[in-house]
Amino acid sequence: MNYRHAFHAGNHADVLKHVALLALLDALKAKDSPFFVLDTHAGRGRYLLGGEESRKTAEAETGVLKLFGQAGLPDVLKRYLRAVEADNPVGALVAYPGSPLLAAQALREHDRLAACELQPEEAAELKALFARDPRVAVHARDGYAAIKALLPPKARDTKFARGLVLIDPPYEAQDAEYPRILAALEEGLARWPNATWAVWYPIKQRRSLLPFFRKAAALPAKSALVAELQVRPDDSPLRLNGSGMLLLNPPWRFDAALAPALPVLRDAVGETGASTRLEWLKASS
Ligand code: SAM
Repeated sequence: MNYRHAFHAGNHADVLKHVALLALLDALKAKDSPFFVLDTHAGRGRYLLGGEESRKTAEAETGVLKLFGQAGLPDVLKRYLRAVEADNPVGALVAYPGSPLLAAQALREHDRLAACELQPEEAAELKALFARDPRVAVHARDGYAAIKALLPPKARDTKFARGLVLIDPPYEAQDAEYPRILAALEEGLARWPNATWAVWYPIKQRRSLLPFFRKAAALPAKSALVAELQVRPDDSPLRLNGSGMLLLNPPWRFDAALAPALPVLRDAVGETGASTRLEWLKASS
């Protein structure tokens, strides 16, 4: 099946991805020095829910909408819901912010974001969204090639020792996406070894991901972590049964910040047989 992740807005996979993204950005903000974010597959930045795009509302109903109104949520989930609310009128959810918009909202004055999007209409929307934000550069180009072209990052006289690269491809190439991701990570780690790298991946049948994990653990990163949310058992290879984030060089105690969110998400958006995982593929030495 060729599911188009680009058209999911606020579903369970977006929730995991965007909760993790915001937690990573907050960890970067713990220090004053500027940081740089590269979003290699950025999308259009904002997705409208409701109206003619009612399918997107249905997606959100399987994800983000299940969290609103829940009491006692862990901090990283409260933080995520506040970010979604910030892009909406009070008391309504009409739009879902994508990764570049969430990142831009989190940036400080001296931080920078480069967002790449290959599809011309999506890139045009993204350019319009950030037309007045000098901290954000939108590139209508291949996000993998941008790793070579834009890293290590420089902006005028600022060199960024710290930062984050989000790799969130649509997996239209199915399994052929994984070698591209691994090659991009290898190239990227050589260019910007201290950065944190966050790769979103779909889970249809988890065992088919094991070679990817093995190769990811062998990359020259200091550490590698996976965080996963499976919303149902992975017994059907045709459905998006869950998703995960591979994190290379995650910030200190990122796993502890994310850990309490996973069971809450499992219970809120999962079906019978839902599960989570937070596992070091390579622990920092
Ligand atoms: N990261 C976004 C978010 O979290 O809101 C969603 C991105 S969506 C899953 C994937 C996007 O990558 C699509 O908008 C698609 O047009 C774009 N895309 C596909 N191939 C690309 C490439 N080689 N380089 C950059 N963008 C690409």
